[in-house]
Amino acid sequence: MTLFTEPIGSIPRTNKLLEGISTNNFESFLDEAIIETINEFEKTGSIIITDGEQSKSSFVTYPLTGLTNLHNSGMRIDFADGHHRQLPILTSGPFKFGKYAVEYLKNAMSKSKLKFKQAVISASALSLLYPPDGIADYPKNEFIEDLLNECEKDIRLCLEQGAEKVQTDFTEGRLSLKLDPSGGVLQHFIDLNNQVFNRFSEFERKKLGIHVCPGGDHDSTHSADIDYLDFLPKLFDLNVGNFYLQLASEPDREKVLEAIQKYMKPNQMIFIGVIDVLNPSIESAEQVRDRVIEAAKYIPVNQLGTTDDCGFAPFCDDRSTSRETAFAKIKARIEGTKLAEKVLLLH
Ligand SMILES: [Zn+2]
Repeated sequence: MTLFTEPIGSIPRTNKLLEGISTNNFESFLDEAIIETINEFEKTGSIIITDGEQSKSSFVTYPLTGLTNLHNSGMRIDFADGHHRQLPILTSGPFKFGKYAVEYLKNAMSKSKLKFKQAVISASALSLLYPPDGIADYPKNEFIEDLLNECEKDIRLCLEQGAEKVQTDFTEGRLSLKLDPSGGVLQHFIDLNNQVFNRFSEFERKKLGIHVCPGGDHDSTHSADIDYLDFLPKLFDLNVGNFYLQLASEPDREKVLEAIQKYMKPNQMIFIGVIDVLNPSIESAEQVRDRVIEAAKYIPVNQLGTTDDCGFAPFCDDRSTSRETAFAKIKARIEGTKLAEKVLLLH
């Protein structure tokens, strides 16, 4: 038996790709960037990898690629360091994805024999595209129906393609408590996402996962000031088999682990973040080992895995972390998880 370890998804884009983005000469460097990323992943000793999201505009906007029924005036997300990101808003129906995640997966799988996980965006995040004032001839219930169908299709195509895991990014979960401290919006988000997950069989749901974090962009967060403990009790109601939880950057990890222990369910795998992606200093394998051993006091070893706190560059233009640092951190996660395995599983 081994401890599972998986990345979240994104890796900083290659320099050529970043230059390509600014000069609109993006496509020609893509394949090279994906191959380079996969090669670097292979060198870390990873068993399950991603394409580093080299071709995604961001973890949330990829389905909007090429859509013409959008306006750049949607919800604004403020980060602690003062910068912000703004979501687009839908101007007319029907809502269909411009791009499905399987396109990235298929391309990446043709370049390596390793197992791949694929990140997709949540129905709850995309539900924010619908304007508060509504759209004439396209009522909200019709939008939600289209949204659920599209999100189901996005996941199902990845499973059919042979993804080892399909992880839904749910970074707006913790953020929702900032917008609505009563928890009403959070409950609505969870119900919406479960309407997608409930369309899959129990066997398929073992391959489905959810990632939560307080946001990660330009080494800053949007909801770290919201208490994790207010968020965790609801989180485990999500009907998926795998939870990828930011933890390394939490000031009081044991308090969070106690809550995870209290609310997690018997059929759920908990991947704890052992790498702080916003901190430039590189963890040692021993540091990672100790974080896993700490977590094993609260989470049964057969339900415990490790991950990074978040992707290393969820938005394509984020240059705050170098690729070198990202892969050194991933290597520490792999080696530290192996060290912990020796302590936890062999004795
Ligand atoms: Zn994240």
